[in-house]
Amino acid sequence: MRLRRALFVCTLVLVMPLIGLAQSTAPELDKVEANPDEKMVVMSEKPASVKAESTIVAAPLELARKDATYASAYHDVYHILSAPNPCSSFFGGPSTAVEVLNTLFGQLETSKLSDTRTGLSMFGQTRSISNARTGANYRMFQKAVINTSGPFYQRKFWPADPFVPSVGSFQPNTREARASILLHELGHLLQGADGRWLLPNDGASDEQSRKNTITIEERCGEQIKTLRRRRADANTVAPQKGSGAEVPQ
Ligand SMILES: [Zn+2]
Repeated sequence: MRLRRALFVCTLVLVMPLIGLAQSTAPELDKVEANPDEKMVVMSEKPASVKAESTIVAAPLELARKDATYASAYHDVYHILSAPNPCSSFFGGPSTAVEVLNTLFGQLETSKLSDTRTGLSMFGQTRSISNARTGANYRMFQKAVINTSGPFYQRKFWPADPFVPSVGSFQPNTREARASILLHELGHLLQGADGRWLLPNDGASDEQSRKNTITIEERCGEQIKTLRRRRADANTVAPQKGSGAEVPQ
């Protein structure tokens, strides 16, 4: 019965609220491994003959949606992961990391969730994906939703605005925060060489979520910090303040 409930893997609850600690919105996390409906998808068929291609990094997606913040965040993380560096190495190298990023963005949605502490939630049934060409082993959840009222898009600006937490050491609604949120989620999707997820499930634990974000900053902090010096595309400038007009539908 409990297995049928939603699996909130990551709510990116990064700042412990003063009240309402009992209202953990992310139950059932440790049930992921026992999901009876998990499906296996094998993506590649000729591993031996295309070994040289394993280093080829997929091209950036042509994002259909016209949300500049969303697109900018994608391109920032693509920029980080498509190059050899400690961050992309943590995710198995540029080829694997970009593959998982692109697969995630192929299904990513945005929606207004009630908890402004949540950056992005992944939940529902999982499917396992194995790409023999790249050697990538990862999973995808039935749903992956960016919270339009959380730190990906918002920060507290007016006194009446709800509290929105920082993402690790980065202020909410910044390029660095958005990149951290996305990289954090990728850590829940990819397995390491030991077969474990790069980041432990944390949907039921605020503390584990914070630890996972710390891990991301340890591995990717230098690359994330370079984003502030990276020129955004003319049409992908992210908003820097407020909680108003930039929010997508
Ligand atoms: Zn998480």
